[in-house]
Amino acid sequence: MSTVSLKDVTKVFQDGTIAVDTINLDVNDGEFMVLLGPSGCGKSTVLRMVAGLEDPSTGAVLLDGEVANDLSPRERRIAMVFQDFALYPHMTVSDNIGFPLRLAGVDQGPRGERIRDVAGALGIGDVLGRKPSQLSGGQRQRVAMGRAIVRRPGLFLMDEPLSNLDSGLRAELRAEISGLTRELGVTTIYVTHDQAEALTMADRVAIMRKGVLQDVGTPTQVYGRPATLYVAAFLGSPRMNLLEASVYVHLDRYVALNLGEQALYLPWDDIRSRAVAHYHGERIVVGMRAEALTPVAPDAPGAVLQGRIRYLEHHGHESLAFLDVGATAIVVDEIGTPVEHVSSDQRGRRRLGHVMQRLAGRSGDAPAVAAPGGDGNRTSVLADPGRHHRRPADLAVRLAPYPGVSAGHSLSVQVRMDALHFFDERGDRIDVGWR
Ligand code: ATP
Repeated sequence: MSTVSLKDVTKVFQDGTIAVDTINLDVNDGEFMVLLGPSGCGKSTVLRMVAGLEDPSTGAVLLDGEVANDLSPRERRIAMVFQDFALYPHMTVSDNIGFPLRLAGVDQGPRGERIRDVAGALGIGDVLGRKPSQLSGGQRQRVAMGRAIVRRPGLFLMDEPLSNLDSGLRAELRAEISGLTRELGVTTIYVTHDQAEALTMADRVAIMRKGVLQDVGTPTQVYGRPATLYVAAFLGSPRMNLLEASVYVHLDRYVALNLGEQALYLPWDDIRSRAVAHYHGERIVVGMRAEALTPVAPDAPGAVLQGRIRYLEHHGHESLAFLDVGATAIVVDEIGTPVEHVSSDQRGRRRLGHVMQRLAGRSGDAPAVAAPGGDGNRTSVLADPGRHHRRPADLAVRLAPYPGVSAGHSLSVQVRMDALHFFDERGDRIDVGWR
């Protein structure tokens, strides 16, 4: 049994860097929790505090319900695997894996048995006599995993363990790692900046940004109902289309979402229309993933947007068309740094642009981390709007591999209204909210 809880945990380094800002997170027994976020968002610092390698500045780390702030790493029954795993070059694979058992004074007989069990489970049973230099990158990573697992830790902490490997091997190992930890029933916290890794491996994903926790949920929850605009923009490929919309309520009929040159209409009997109607006369952000858009004939019924294909990308199994629908796009870039406010409509640009800069939490010359207090990513300085990159909105639409259309062609897409996401000017999800 092993659970982890972070209660209001903040980490401020000596130079004043706020790496982790008032985080609350519970990891259940046997759960595979992935900490996901861009470089520098504080993932490793969280992991290191759980391991006892860093002390929280404030707040508590609880292991199995007991405050563990004062426990040394050794006292925590934790095993860690890092990106830069170091094997002992002069030792065989068998000795590398068995090293922690030797330190713990486990006799040779049972030690050999445990080594063979672990090596078998990791598929490296046939290389036990080799030295690390005689192994492939993937085999070396498996040895590092074996060395961590062999002590049967209560908690497994992994910090980007696959990032040095090529993509084929990464895909293979991520299935193995999640399978193995589940088989062993070991609670695992796994750090990555790779959303594919997070969505495929995790029981739950915790998404961080500039030290602040943005959302926690199953992969289906965080992808399907992202709590913030940032999470919406971070997860998914192609990125979610995020368009600025002015809201106009036509009571008892519909809520109009004016996207610039075109509009979408949320029927009044749609349960979300009441929440969105709250923003009558204001601007919000409407999110639509590519899977919510289906190419149709121009005169097709229902919610249809017309546009001109600006460019096409061929991805082998599919093509992506980027469609100019005369709307204003809100772009939150992958690493959370400057938000580009893109517009074919100049009106309102400045205000929402500022909002989105606040949402991004920094600009090129603003502090790299959030202010303390749990809401730092929404209170940072405004950037110089002149430094923002601007271009017209491009709506990503999935097409067949050889779609028979090309740049410059007109395209109509039907919008699945039930698959729209709505965010307010702070970047929070507008919803009647259930999970
Ligand atoms: P990466 O994916 O690149 O490893 P991360 O999300 O794990 O990034 P952390 O390593 O936790 O991020 O770092 C969070 C922030 O704290 C960064 O701004 C980093 O520069 C800063 N930081 C980390 N360690 C220290 C330290 N010892 N002193 C000062 N600042 C630090």
